[in-house]
Amino acid sequence: MTMVSCWSEMRNILFKVTYDAAKAALPAILVCLLPVCAGAQSYDLLLKGGHVIDPKNGIDQSMDLGIKGKTIARVARDIPPGEALKVIDVSGLYVVPGLIDPHAHVFFGSDPEKGFNGGASSVSPDAFSFRSGITTIVDAGDAGWRNFPDFRKQVIEQSDTRVLAFINIFGHGLTSGSGIYKMDDIDIDSTLSMVRRYPDDIVGVRIGHFLGKSWVPFEAALKSAQQSNRPLLLECHTPELSLDELLERMRPGDIFTHAFGAVNDRLSILDEEDKIQSYVLEAREQGIVFDVGHGGGSFHYSLAVPASEQGLFPDTFGTDLHRYSMNGGMKDMLNIMSTYLTLGQRLKEVIAGGSWKAAKAIQRSDLGHLDEGGVADIAVLKVEKGNFGYVDSGGNRIDGNKKLNAELTIREGEIVWDQNGLSAKRWQENQ
Ligand SMILES: [Zn+2]
Repeated sequence: MTMVSCWSEMRNILFKVTYDAAKAALPAILVCLLPVCAGAQSYDLLLKGGHVIDPKNGIDQSMDLGIKGKTIARVARDIPPGEALKVIDVSGLYVVPGLIDPHAHVFFGSDPEKGFNGGASSVSPDAFSFRSGITTIVDAGDAGWRNFPDFRKQVIEQSDTRVLAFINIFGHGLTSGSGIYKMDDIDIDSTLSMVRRYPDDIVGVRIGHFLGKSWVPFEAALKSAQQSNRPLLLECHTPELSLDELLERMRPGDIFTHAFGAVNDRLSILDEEDKIQSYVLEAREQGIVFDVGHGGGSFHYSLAVPASEQGLFPDTFGTDLHRYSMNGGMKDMLNIMSTYLTLGQRLKEVIAGGSWKAAKAIQRSDLGHLDEGGVADIAVLKVEKGNFGYVDSGGNRIDGNKKLNAELTIREGEIVWDQNGLSAKRWQENQ
């Protein structure tokens, strides 16, 4: 063998050995290189330096929060900025679970013959949700068993907001005017079959706006709620059915909305000396959920202030959002939560009412918290300091010095509201 052929042979052997070793090691090399190619960051988005309030997990302190895809990947004291593709400085702000409005009217549509159930009395959820830190809105019975599929197609499927619903015990849903509700529009089997058809959308059964002495609609709604293992939502305007009897028949977990409203002909939650009625305290003790349901005419300081002074704060802050409440005293859910900050409820409790307690009320334990691995529905709030006025349904004002504002809202990991461009690049830096 000449020197040339020997060297050539050795080179071939060396090449083969190197090639085989590299081939064998290829999977390991790829695993090491992949994060470099894809970006080594563990998080798509990092909220850095904020004060996290997560009532479900008992967190009320400075924490960072990392998001990967649609989920919350990590909540920890100090997450290095280099681990995220994008970092947002949220120092001085509160990072809380995406808020849940358990009482709104969002079956909007263009039919002039209809009001709340497909007409102009209801409003688009996306137009009001994210700017108030809300990521989940629950419709309060605009649709019944006859038109729920229309509601789903027209609103739920068209909205970026997570829209859930109480199904109305009346088949046509929330029609305009109380006088047109008909007993033959009630069908428990059809209501239950609609719940079975849309179990992820329908969170409970609603009764309300029925004038009359009959217990039939209430009992039908309660039975439907029982048989579907979901809460009953009791809205106002059942004036001839006394409040004490209603609360007595309701089950723990059922929801009593317009709790602080001086609704005509309905018994008050207070007695003549402004003391909380004993049956109200009992109902509360049993676990009936007290929702604000502010609306256009259902929240009054004559009840809310004495109740607050006696320690009766709402569990949840349902807005009763619709065309006739949005520009009145109600405004939005953060305005109601700010009202309760002014009435003495602690921030932590107010946030709980807007998130975890609301999630529990609609039996959706997957929402309303900041669990690692949970859906990245998040609100970043600012407590503004200054002079603010809060107005009830009677046109009365109380003055406060704090107001909650939504700086940033994140829905399934996507920034869907950014009040002051915290996530945007400065224009000057792009020149
Ligand atoms: Zn309502």
